[in-house]
Amino acid sequence: MKIHEYQAKQILAKFGVTTPRGEVAFNPGEARAVAERQGGTVVVKAQIHAGGRGKAGGVKLARNPDEAQRIATELLGKKLVTIQTGPEGRVVKRLLIEEGLEVARELYLGLVIDRTTARPVFMASTEGGVEIEVVAAEHPEKILKEFIDSALGLQPFQARKLAFGLGLEAKLVNEAVRFFSSLYQAMIATDASLVEINPFVLTRDGRLLALDAKMNFDDNALYRHNDIRDLRDLGEEDPLEVKATNYSLNYIRLDGNVGCMVNGAGLAMATMDIIQYAGGRPANFLDVGGGANEEQVRHGFEIILSDANVCAVLINIFGGIMRCDIVAHGVIAAVKSLGTKVPVVVRLKGTNVELGQQILRESGMNFTVADDMKDAAEKVVALGRESPH
Ligand code: GDP
Ligand code: MN
Repeated sequence: MKIHEYQAKQILAKFGVTTPRGEVAFNPGEARAVAERQGGTVVVKAQIHAGGRGKAGGVKLARNPDEAQRIATELLGKKLVTIQTGPEGRVVKRLLIEEGLEVARELYLGLVIDRTTARPVFMASTEGGVEIEVVAAEHPEKILKEFIDSALGLQPFQARKLAFGLGLEAKLVNEAVRFFSSLYQAMIATDASLVEINPFVLTRDGRLLALDAKMNFDDNALYRHNDIRDLRDLGEEDPLEVKATNYSLNYIRLDGNVGCMVNGAGLAMATMDIIQYAGGRPANFLDVGGGANEEQVRHGFEIILSDANVCAVLINIFGGIMRCDIVAHGVIAAVKSLGTKVPVVVRLKGTNVELGQQILRESGMNFTVADDMKDAAEKVVALGRESPH
């Protein structure tokens, strides 16, 4: 789960991470009031669940409350298109109004779980402020890494190594070490999967602060963080993905045109691969779960078909816990109630497979029953091409 920058800063501040003074504003009047309270120059920052706002015009300096109000009027309700939003962009509905700081150096800090070593890794780089992906691709040596033993936590020597690696003056090292360890504490205590501070700044008056903050959380750990779960902003998420969560379906929207409904995450991944292999592009990942019932099949179908890009659907179900005849009834009920015109290819395997296939063939509906995965993928890709959709 993602949250907004101002929310991440509030959480981090509780763990002792230094952040600029600031407040959230939902309308220009509030933006003005915050600017008045802050006094002096403020920074008006669009709050969307995507980075790259600075370059896209979503981060602006305001020298006084009048200017803060004017900038807020411009930004609120505006669609911001950044390198991370995709071409459709995101509408700005909240702003963070923060004290303006005189920045001397922009550095980078990132904490993620490294899959290879199965440990948290603390990354730091002198190349902050810019796109870290570019630094990673062109100058990987400029990203320092400390792998953390989670039983021991971030060790002071590791934090010092990072601080010296960033070229911080000796008198700032202790403060940097405190900052890094607070950041690590925050990650562990909140079950964050990512904490990124870009830029981590040194101000002209010698302070270290998180000028930007991004936190993502492990969805599987949210049950023990109700306060964080409450920060979820559904307006920032794909409406179809939100709907899927409400039905306990595991759905991720993609940009292809072959919809797929599968049970089991592994089979779903393999199905997406084989669609691609057959020359098509999957429109989604959807795992209806091992024990899905007729209703869940219908909801899954409904979600797939709500995506206007979908030209053909592949249903690939292994009837283990769920019998193939139940799946067949579910699919028929779904197609009937939704009145779909999109061609549907069905591949069933497992318990009662013959019965399931027979039910589909005798339904009088336009199903293509496939024998195996390869056959199913080739058929659905061909139908997707022909479909006028
Ligand atoms: P992002 O582009 O979405 O990652 O947004 P950031 O929060 O990183 O802001 C982009 C850039 O705006 C930063 O890299 C800074 O250069 C600049 N910026 C943000 N806040 C301030 C501030 O208080 N003072 C100054 N001088 N620059 C700021
Ligand atoms: Mn940033």
